[in-house]
Amino acid sequence: MSDDAQPLPDCLTPGLYLVATPIGNLGDITLRAVDILSRCDGVACEDTRITGKLLKHLGLSKPMWRYDDHSEQRDRRRLVDSMRNRAVALVSDAGTPMISDPGFRLVNDCRLEGIPVTSIPGACAAVVGLTLSGLPNDRFLFAGFLPAKEKARRETLQELAATDATLVFYETGPRLLKSLKALGEVMPERELAVARELTKLHEECRRGMSDGLMAYYDANPPKGEIVLLVGPPQEQVPSDADADAMLRTALETMKTSQAAAHVSKATGLDRKTLYARAMAMKSE
Ligand code: SAM
Repeated sequence: MSDDAQPLPDCLTPGLYLVATPIGNLGDITLRAVDILSRCDGVACEDTRITGKLLKHLGLSKPMWRYDDHSEQRDRRRLVDSMRNRAVALVSDAGTPMISDPGFRLVNDCRLEGIPVTSIPGACAAVVGLTLSGLPNDRFLFAGFLPAKEKARRETLQELAATDATLVFYETGPRLLKSLKALGEVMPERELAVARELTKLHEECRRGMSDGLMAYYDANPPKGEIVLLVGPPQEQVPSDADADAMLRTALETMKTSQAAAHVSKATGLDRKTLYARAMAMKSE
């Protein structure tokens, strides 16, 4: 029998447990999350009504305490102190705590006080949106919500435009058109995706350029929750003249086949075509 299969003790080790909850579909909660919620001494949450509904759905009843990072420092201190002999689960209204949700200060204080912290992973809208969009996901940058004010929104986008990665934002229906417009102005050549109502009945993921998406959502005002994604900057395909110039420079120090391979690697252009071009240049 492996260690993993040992029977679980009734009580959890005191400390803080970060528990991810569903972002829509109530089936999206892990067995481990349910186990922690059922054995913890209480749940710190953003909204006791929302968390109360989830606990009821799971057939659980637990003490709940309201928590957000703006809570008085004195209240946070009390909560952290209580974790010396109580197991406290932190949940947010939906998804993974601390991903555009409270918890950062609590975890930081626990670490400073030597209180054990355990994270129980699960649903996160940013990851669901990213995987569903089909946009490149080898590198992505999660940037939370864009600023509400136009100038700050544009400055944030200008700052992020140079990042060689898919950008992931949280968005709301009323602000979507403004963000699409700003994206069209700051990054007009980038492909976008709007992932809406993820894991819910009316889930949709729509890809396109800013103009097309603006036209669609102008005609169909978006309801519900949204993840807005921006594909990475496209690599520039060099012009024939640029490729020739690179070949000419390479040919000064390399053999024809080496020069073709070198320029092919640097530009992504076909090696055989470059080789033929280099041969032609040599006989010109
Ligand atoms: N902690 C959450 C998580 O792990 O995804 C995010 C909380 S943040 C306060 C709420 C934002 O997440 C929403 O405004 C929306 O942008 C995004 N979101 C949450 N649930 C979503 C869903 N089902 N579909 C699309 N976006 C969602």
